[in-house]
Amino acid sequence: MQVLDQQFIDGKLVPSHGSDVYAVNSAITREQIAEAVLGDEVDAEQAVAAAKRALPGWSATSLEERRGYLQKLADAFENRREDMILGLVEEFGTTRPTAAYIVDQSRDWFVEAQKLVTEDTFTEQVGHATVNYVPVGVAVLITPWNGASWFMAMKASVALAAGCTVVLKPSERGIWQAWPVMQAISEAGLPHGVINLVFGRGQPVGNVLTGHPHVDKVSLTGSTATGKAIARNGIETMKRVTLELGGKSPTIILEDADLAQAVPFALRAGLFNNGQACIAGTRILAPESRIDEIREALVAGIAAINVGDPHDDATVVGPVLDEDQYETIQGYIRTGIAEGAELLAGGEGRPEGLGDGNYVKPTLFAATNDMTIAQEEIFGPVLTLITYRDEDEAIAIANDSPYGLHGYVATGDVEHGRAVARRIRSGRVMVNEVIDAPDAPFGGFKLSGIGREFGRYGIAAYLETQTVFSK
Ligand code: NAD
Repeated sequence: MQVLDQQFIDGKLVPSHGSDVYAVNSAITREQIAEAVLGDEVDAEQAVAAAKRALPGWSATSLEERRGYLQKLADAFENRREDMILGLVEEFGTTRPTAAYIVDQSRDWFVEAQKLVTEDTFTEQVGHATVNYVPVGVAVLITPWNGASWFMAMKASVALAAGCTVVLKPSERGIWQAWPVMQAISEAGLPHGVINLVFGRGQPVGNVLTGHPHVDKVSLTGSTATGKAIARNGIETMKRVTLELGGKSPTIILEDADLAQAVPFALRAGLFNNGQACIAGTRILAPESRIDEIREALVAGIAAINVGDPHDDATVVGPVLDEDQYETIQGYIRTGIAEGAELLAGGEGRPEGLGDGNYVKPTLFAATNDMTIAQEEIFGPVLTLITYRDEDEAIAIANDSPYGLHGYVATGDVEHGRAVARRIRSGRVMVNEVIDAPDAPFGGFKLSGIGREFGRYGIAAYLETQTVFSK
């Protein structure tokens, strides 16, 4: 069995200092596929020290040189493409086409970031003043398990483009995915200490990194509870934070929607990554006037979904990450039933013939928005269908959530859909299609976080603004 017992610190793959052993299991079979030896406080300290030593040199690199290193990272990611895809499929159960999409986007972040490494990003003239945008300093990047390479590349690409040095701490529940990412980073050959990677748990490793006096910036993608802990830990040294946190996003099906388009859209938004997505549209809001046909179409749509091995091309929904995740989701299904939600599809237990892996039946409840399953993030393939009387009520329900990360609107009139989108209190809304752009801002309102990522919004989070007056 493969033993994952290294970290990447100061330009070298080094043995983990810690003795914390972690079993990596396949989501598909629940069998152990690797053993990881996690890092500890000493590894965290060494990584920060290396990043601090490398900062003066890296922040002084020419723009051309920096772009060149970003391209080396893109090439190294391309070389490890297949390993990264397998890591995603085996560890957290996403389907192979989705994994390939995630890995290709991971590589592309390093290409996109090169477009930001221009004079305009780092200086501008405002009247008499010269405004300089200078690197914040040492950036700690903490990432979740639901697509490790994507989050690691998205954050590291702009941090490095800004001139910051980096310590990555991927999730301990995503090591199988992050291992080939570490190999790629080591193969890219950046100057020692510019990019470091430590494997470890939130306690102690994450805690040391996010409270460290030599760390200037922390960017987290993770749960809201972790976001709060990190913000508290960094306040003594006034760390800059970017927090991309949880969600409970609404999909509003408007009265004029064409269900042949709206239902697949709603299911895709809700079940992407087997429901293990922060942006999942898990509350489907439907008009009372059409509730029967929408309900019927959603139930038929779910019945047609292939649940199975994520290596299989026909699979739409694969297993969830691990047994903890499986049990958490089962608990929410039981809570839905206990609170009186009506089970329309799926339910407790594993789908027939899929007893070995962490498979959950795609589940749909008719619910009200005050129920636990409509308020809390489940992070699995469990959706709620909520009825509204008119558009104002739809928007009120959409906004009646502690979260505000994403939203979806299905409509026959795009202009109208845009007007509805504007009234939703969330950082992003998609009207009629699940699409994306690497340079449009991403981030949440309310408990979904602080700050924005992607493109010029993303790099701004790694730059301090300095105004110089001269005569
Ligand atoms: P998590 O909060 O448990 O862990 C995220 C990372 O934080 C991990 O690397 C973990 O080790 C680290 N961590 C945990 N406690 C810490 C502490 N006290 N100090 C420092 N680091 C600590 O989240 P997860 O289970 O890995 O991921 C799922 C969550 O992430 C969901 O809530 C999901 O919505 C959210 N998420 C948000 C986005 C977004 O862009 N907004 C994207 C993906 C996932």
